[in-house]
Amino acid sequence: MVNAKFKSIVKKIKEFDEIVIARHIGPDPDAIASQIALREIIKYNYPHKKVYAVGAMVSRFKYFGSLDKIDEATLTNALLIIVDVPRFDRVDAAYKNRYKYTIKIDHHPCEEGICDLELVDVSSSSTCQLITELVYNTKLKINKEIAEKLFMGIVTDSDRFLLSYTTAKTFSLVANLMRDYKLDLMPLYNHIYERGINERKFESYIVNNMKINEYGFGYIKIDNKTISEFAVDSSTASNMINDFNFIKELNVWAFSSFDEKAGIYKINIRSRNVVINDIAERFNGGGHKFASGARLKTEEEVDELFAALDAACQAYCKEKHDN
Ligand code: AMP
Repeated sequence: MVNAKFKSIVKKIKEFDEIVIARHIGPDPDAIASQIALREIIKYNYPHKKVYAVGAMVSRFKYFGSLDKIDEATLTNALLIIVDVPRFDRVDAAYKNRYKYTIKIDHHPCEEGICDLELVDVSSSSTCQLITELVYNTKLKINKEIAEKLFMGIVTDSDRFLLSYTTAKTFSLVANLMRDYKLDLMPLYNHIYERGINERKFESYIVNNMKINEYGFGYIKIDNKTISEFAVDSSTASNMINDFNFIKELNVWAFSSFDEKAGIYKINIRSRNVVINDIAERFNGGGHKFASGARLKTEEEVDELFAALDAACQAYCKEKHDN
């Protein structure tokens, strides 16, 4: 079934000479890596095709490669592939109705189909894992640079194979990449994990100032004065949220940072025990069962979301206590 989908995706790629690849707003490494890797895969196998990876670049992820600017109005017969994003309202810089055919490759839960062809596997550690599977199940060829991007996407989204979405298939595909392309891991880890000492100090600030209540709900609102004091930016905290995994006292933890340019509060939520994506969805957010996010307009909404997460932690503790 999935195998047939891999073949159908390649068939569609062959059919179109103009292909646009988009992913979600506020991209993480897996989103950027999967779209750039897929662009490079298509160009490598079909050099005559025009392939564009679109959306706003995040300077800290520039090592994955550059993105393309296009005028969608000039496209007449193009294929759109959205990666790592479940809904069109979260897609950065691509509008569905400009395209003849649409494909989704994703590992986020989503009830409804939104594209003509969908490869969705919520058990996959990452979208890069799905693209690696696509490569190993079809005649698509890749090179070392592409393998490196896929590897980095898998490593980051599985949080270095710590998250429960890491399976035998994840390790097997990564082993294929390492064996076939002789990956040198240290330079890749340097790209992903090297940080300034100011970021480490900022992380200590979060550790010291996060409030943790008796139900294991940990939360912090990061203000812009603190962000300038540590010389970080409003997205720095987002990139640290996974580092709070395995803290014994935490069931659910959430960060709120205010993005002045967009005028929104960006919320990152993680959980070890409590399903949180349904709560995030109630606040116009979403994500995975144990890793979700939301973008909110007011501080009141932030407080309401935090109260809902706290209530879920309370319910979890009560149930655990009663059993
Ligand atoms: P983040 O905390 O930004 O790393 O996001 C964790 C997960 O939640 C990712 O899978 C995101 O795609 C998803 N997510 C984050 N923000 C939103 C949002 N506003 N709406 C829907 N999903 C989101």
